[in-house]
Amino acid sequence: MTRKFIISRAHFPCRSPFIIEAVRYTGPMRILSGIQPSGTLHLGNYFGMMKPAIELQERGEAFYFIADLHALTTVRDPQMLAAHCRDVALDFLACGLDPAKSRFFRQSSIPGVTELAWILSVLTPMGLLERCHSYKDKTAKGIAPTHGLFAYPVLMAADILIYESDVVPVGRDQKQHLEVTRDLVIKFNEAYGEVLKMPSPHIQDSTAIVPGLDGAKMSKSYGNAIGIFEEEKALKKKIMGIQTDSTPIADPKPVENSPILGLYRLVATPKDVALMEEQFRSGGVGYGDFKKRLFEAVWTFFAPFRERRAALAADPAFVESVLKSSAEKANALAEKTLAKVRAAVGLR
Ligand code: ATP
Ligand code: MG
Repeated sequence: MTRKFIISRAHFPCRSPFIIEAVRYTGPMRILSGIQPSGTLHLGNYFGMMKPAIELQERGEAFYFIADLHALTTVRDPQMLAAHCRDVALDFLACGLDPAKSRFFRQSSIPGVTELAWILSVLTPMGLLERCHSYKDKTAKGIAPTHGLFAYPVLMAADILIYESDVVPVGRDQKQHLEVTRDLVIKFNEAYGEVLKMPSPHIQDSTAIVPGLDGAKMSKSYGNAIGIFEEEKALKKKIMGIQTDSTPIADPKPVENSPILGLYRLVATPKDVALMEEQFRSGGVGYGDFKKRLFEAVWTFFAPFRERRAALAADPAFVESVLKSSAEKANALAEKTLAKVRAAVGLR
């Protein structure tokens, strides 16, 4: 039976609005997202992607993966890549990814993804990739301008389409890449018939771009990130190092675009946020004081996750078994989609 499912705010009773389109589907809503083991997971990853993904796992069939193939675009040390993969697994599970509800696996465990990426790449106009901001931003920051980095959105499209995903929770930096995926669905289906399913992004307004220490988008590869699981001293040092202007203590301070306030809104109670906003406007309190309060709020917010992470770290066999059994399930689904794609393009 074909059911029609329209996602509305009523399905997500939380403070912020969602940018999401109507989704039609047959069967349970399928949710997909990935995270690169390209460094330590940070507040931007948590609020932009992991938290919404964890909330969505209650509402459909979720597939979350560690994007190790993508991370090869920036990580060249094999030991470091392996360590980051282990840490991403621990971090995501500690933050609430439930292996009983979600599939959680390594991208490289699904060989069909790279095959589908190639099939999509022959339909991908160069101009579509040349317009992508992420490639320009990363190369401007000194990351090697390789074919892999340039073709990143095609591999991402394959990740999304191979599981016939309906909804993709991401930060706003990935919106354009989702548009590339959607363009490729249209191109493929026009060329070969209705084979690929159209996905929709799921972007929360209030956490779409979490600011880093310098006020720019917090990123693993930009050296401006605050890790979810930093040691107490390191966390304090980082937060005390957030860039601020030179407004004297007595003067009012700009509320707009303040990374301190931007981060505080994510981790503090509405009452505490209102008080800090008021003190920004009235003056009389220095940035050092605001940063100390931000540190306390971040430290408290993630306290329960730290306990869970320590328990998981003591049981690596459990974590590995989750990744392995999820990969088997994901692979079975991926192979089904790939069989349809192969048949459609004439590969037998
Ligand atoms: P890299 O610098 O290696 O690209 P990253 O920090 O951008 O790493 P990704 O692994 O590329 O992290 O992204 C994982 C998910 O986290 C994506 O959905 C992305 O949109 C989201 N995300 C990353 N940074 C932020 C941020 N600052 N604010 C909101 N969402 C973010
Ligand atoms: Mg990124």
